Amino acid sequence: MRSKLPFNYIPKPVGILFFLIFLGCNQSDFISYKTFEQLPKIDIHSHYKYSRAYLPEFFNKWNMKTVLVDVALKGEDGPVRNFNNYLEHYKEFPDYFFLCTTFTAFGIENPDYIENTIAQLKKDISNGATMVKVWKNFGMVTQDSAGKYLMINDARLNPIWDFLVENKIPVLAHIGDPEQAWRPLDDPNNPHYNYYKNNPEYHAYNFPEVPSYEEIIEVRDEWVQNNPNLEIIAAHIASMANDLSKVAVRLENYPNLSVELGARFGDLAMQDSKKVSAFFERYQDRILFGTDYGNAAPSSRLSQEDLKEELDRLDEDYQRLFKYLVKSDSMLVRNQKTRGLALSKTILAKIFSENFFSIIEK
Ligand SMILES: [Zn+2]
Repeated sequence: MRSKLPFNYIPKPVGILFFLIFLGCNQSDFISYKTFEQLPKIDIHSHYKYSRAYLPEFFNKWNMKTVLVDVALKGEDGPVRNFNNYLEHYKEFPDYFFLCTTFTAFGIENPDYIENTIAQLKKDISNGATMVKVWKNFGMVTQDSAGKYLMINDARLNPIWDFLVENKIPVLAHIGDPEQAWRPLDDPNNPHYNYYKNNPEYHAYNFPEVPSYEEIIEVRDEWVQNNPNLEIIAAHIASMANDLSKVAVRLENYPNLSVELGARFGDLAMQDSKKVSAFFERYQDRILFGTDYGNAAPSSRLSQEDLKEELDRLDEDYQRLFKYLVKSDSMLVRNQKTRGLALSKTILAKIFSENFFSIIEK
């Protein structure tokens, strides 16, 4: 079991920030970028749906493996999963991948829903899945027959959480979205501007019937609290990456919660690097590296040139994140001018692999 935090009260965000600033950052076991190359790495959040001949060599170069994460996207007649693609990819290169399945609340009114969902999870687990993802379709997409949005703390889901606890399967939870989704798109510098511009169907601001950010987060927190034995990794820095003091409050309150970094480096880069590295120092056992990188087309549809470009871009994208975490230089991250965090070797080893293994092997 993870040791309890030395707090038995709920500290106020301001108090936590104050504490973080004073904690500072331990520079004593600094790691060179060259040495970092061979530090074991797990990207716990990727969507490499299709095989690429270049991936094994690329992963070897960085001593990296990744968790292939299935996600249920909205289709004409309900959610569409891609688990079989990921399974095929996983079976082709089992040394490089872990597998994460998913389920939705679609059909929750059907009397067979629980039985069918657990049967599906059992099958996916027997095929190698070691994690389950729940996505923002809880709270923002899936509705019941009366048009009510189905929320993650719906009591009808409890047998599924119990099943996952019994089988020691952690949940990667992307619940809600950045607060920006509920606000007008008026700042092109916001790190989420392009996502909502290109995916207007998730720009909740345009859909007043979608529950508010505050409600979705409150319900998510309740769910985390109500399932203390369920290991929950909150994807995308718990959908509140723009304000680490809010994340700190959740990490203090819920010992079963950790956070994953995928696609939120822009939010981190907007905050003072000293405060961000103090956050990493304080919560070094509860942070996991992830990217949300992936691919969407089979290799057969791409030319050699396309594939070469894709690999170059991927290497650049990973290196930008690595440099932000490892180096102390000033740099641009998602158009934000910032300074690298220069995390210690101890912290990097934890967030890049040790925390993942301690969760998965519990
Ligand atoms: Zn994702």
